[in-house]
Amino acid sequence: MSCLFCQIANKEKESDEVFEDDQFFVFKDINPKTRIHVLIIPKRHIESVNHMDEEDVELVGTLFLTAKRMAEQLGVADSGYRLEINVGRGGGQIIDHLHVHLMAD
Ligand code: AMP
Ligand code: ZN
Repeated sequence: MSCLFCQIANKEKESDEVFEDDQFFVFKDINPKTRIHVLIIPKRHIESVNHMDEEDVELVGTLFLTAKRMAEQLGVADSGYRLEINVGRGGGQIIDHLHVHLMAD
């Protein structure tokens, strides 16, 4: 398996873990751009939003619910935060495994 984020979700590669359940893995971004900067990834490999299809709709809905819960857990739900999803090289995507950036100052 050559995908870095699959390796992180499988714990084949170390990360600063924040949360895990059967579908998602959440860890701190190695190069944080804000005080709080975590990445929320589905354990199942989906390359990007461009590679989503009908069968992923429920998973991606739950991905956003997980982002909301992470914001609560990290204490920024009320003060506010930013969710970012980059798609493709022109959109700033470097890692080809769907991920949501959760960022807050
Ligand atoms: P993107 O540009 O949307 O593909 O975001 C990829 C993010 O992954 C960047 O913010 C990187 O800092 C972060 N990143 C890369 N490698 C690691 C790693 N091993 N652990 C945690 N975050 C990483
Ligand atoms: Zn992957």
